[in-house]
Amino acid sequence: MTTRSPLEEVKGVGPAAAKLFGQLGIETIGDLIHYYPRRYDDYSHLQQIKSIKPGHITIKAEIKQITGRYVRRGMHITEAIASDETGSVRLVWFNQPYRANGMKSGQSYFISGTFELTHQKMAIMNPSTERESDFPVNTARIVPIYRETKGLKSAQIRKAVKSVVSLVSTLPETLPSWVTKDNKLMSRSDAVLAMHFPDNSQVLDQARERLGFEELFELVLTAQLIKRDALDEKALAIPFKQKLAASFVSHLPFKLTDDQKRTVWQIYQDMQRESPMNRLVEGDVGSGKTVVATMAALMAMEQGYQVAFMAPTELLARQHAETIYNLLEPLGYAAQVSLLVGSMKPRQKEQARDHIKSGRVRFIVGTHALIQEKVDMHKLGLVIIDEQHRFGVEQRTKLQTKAGHMPHVLSMTATPIPRSLALTVYGELDISIIASKPKDRLPIKTTLISPNSRAELYERVDEQISAGRQVFVVCPLVKESLALAKTKSAQEVHKTISQGPFKHRKVGLLHGQMKGEDKAKVMQAFLDREYDILVATTVIEVGVDVPNATVMMIENADRFGLAQLHQLRGRVGRSQHQGYCYAILSDSQAPSKRLRAFAQTTDGFRLSELDLELRGPGAIYGTFQHGQLDLRIARFTDTKQISLARNAARRFIESHESLLQYKYLAARVHKLRAITTLN
Ligand code: ADP
Ligand code: MG
Repeated sequence: MTTRSPLEEVKGVGPAAAKLFGQLGIETIGDLIHYYPRRYDDYSHLQQIKSIKPGHITIKAEIKQITGRYVRRGMHITEAIASDETGSVRLVWFNQPYRANGMKSGQSYFISGTFELTHQKMAIMNPSTERESDFPVNTARIVPIYRETKGLKSAQIRKAVKSVVSLVSTLPETLPSWVTKDNKLMSRSDAVLAMHFPDNSQVLDQARERLGFEELFELVLTAQLIKRDALDEKALAIPFKQKLAASFVSHLPFKLTDDQKRTVWQIYQDMQRESPMNRLVEGDVGSGKTVVATMAALMAMEQGYQVAFMAPTELLARQHAETIYNLLEPLGYAAQVSLLVGSMKPRQKEQARDHIKSGRVRFIVGTHALIQEKVDMHKLGLVIIDEQHRFGVEQRTKLQTKAGHMPHVLSMTATPIPRSLALTVYGELDISIIASKPKDRLPIKTTLISPNSRAELYERVDEQISAGRQVFVVCPLVKESLALAKTKSAQEVHKTISQGPFKHRKVGLLHGQMKGEDKAKVMQAFLDREYDILVATTVIEVGVDVPNATVMMIENADRFGLAQLHQLRGRVGRSQHQGYCYAILSDSQAPSKRLRAFAQTTDGFRLSELDLELRGPGAIYGTFQHGQLDLRIARFTDTKQISLARNAARRFIESHESLLQYKYLAARVHKLRAITTLN
């Protein structure tokens, strides 16, 4: 029996059970060994029933009188009485009808749950239960609870793991020995063993620390290796021309903020080198990233190099092209700017491509797809990527020019990356942060609105329109959907408000199912103030710039993620006028922590940290999806461990040790390299 053996070689696991294990992704004995518990119930602090107080508690008691019944509208309640020598307590489960069958009256169980008041009586709510007889008395008091599947319970998984314990103790060490020693880490085999059978909570903590460290170390090492390799790539050095930069700045209708200046300076320094720039500019919505990007582009154009600017949507590409055109006009560079988007007429596209090919056009603005695939740029010196996290190794390699040069890459995002992720997953990037907003901006006022207060809200919004301002209304859906009750659609809201409360106003409609051209027309009309209100879907989420708009109403605000809400809010408050964001809730229940935080702060960084805490990295950054990175233990909130892992990775690289002598580590790094983003 080895870690590669199929699961059926485990004693007591037959073909039927193996199939169930397979549903949990466990095919081999190795998979089983690395199937860590989802959580633990601590039975080392058992309480007596007579002394339990409200809150989380664990007791050992005999169960009696289990009954299950349906109450109103399909709601199911299971009730039972649990007793020990000191007293009895009621147990209640909602909507878990299988509970009544799963437990036997008269048997002793470990019971863990929250003791609280429900329907005027105290009870332990939705407790988890484990049969006492499933635990030999003298072993683990901290009980691992695994993710289960129908027909396969934690107790069975525990049993299976138990019968391969001898293999766990032979697991090889995967980290260099000096790394474990310097960081006082448990050996790998001890750690894995403790994950399944912790003797006490301290040992469990140490096991988590060891395994979490390893995950972070792999990530950071990968990032640092990518960064080191990039130093060997060739780029076209773009010298800094002070006069040109000064002339550009002198034509701006405003003064650059200090953060903008510093960022531009960092970019110019990067571009002067012969190895490619790989810089990310993080700046909250409205912090003025476009000007910064244009200044970078200017320097490249001046050398006769081409610049590709990739926006996530056509709408944005069009708007950016216009902005960039206007910024470069006074210097006589406007004629070198060209838009290239799918919805342009074939003849226009043809012409744009010709001009790109001949080099007459040096600044191409388009969508990610178009620029990457269909354009023949012979002197590509700089690539600017707006609002996109996912720009992987592969895409970057595609940019390599025929002459073997790599362009400088400048990415821009308004979704702040929490520092912990910046240091690990995105560790190969250089980062500039534009933290300050242009001075004349007032912070946006955000209010959570209960659906009952709609009428008052509309009055307030109408006052803004009377004052000459414009309004966005964002809905989660394009069309009504029966499947999604209480969820507003743009079409429906457009109809109701333009016939009802805003009959006297001009109301436009914009959504993703419209043709590119039509979208652009509506957007232009809104910019030209032909509409007072624009009802839209999240097509307007990123980047759209309408300085005269001061009100953002978000329907079903609870349906959106924090980052998205923050992006939407950033569409207003882009001028000297006060901006307002009204987040309308789906129902009159108390708003979530997420929404309350959203209303309390306009600080994008704080919100991103909170989002990471509440939802984990997976939900925030697309690349973590599908468990690709396979981070199971590492906590991104543990800054101390991150910094230890970074130091170890740095030392590893400086030591020039060969990665290949650590087979497991090398394989992990290889895998991570292929999936980490933005490099
Ligand atoms: P974002 O960072 O969201 O991409 P933009 O580049 O679209 O922001 O800039 C938002 C608005 O602020 C634009 O209208 C731009 O002209 C203006 N702007 C940029 N920098 C400054 C500045 N230093 N002072 C005043 N306004 C500025
Ligand atoms: Mg922008």
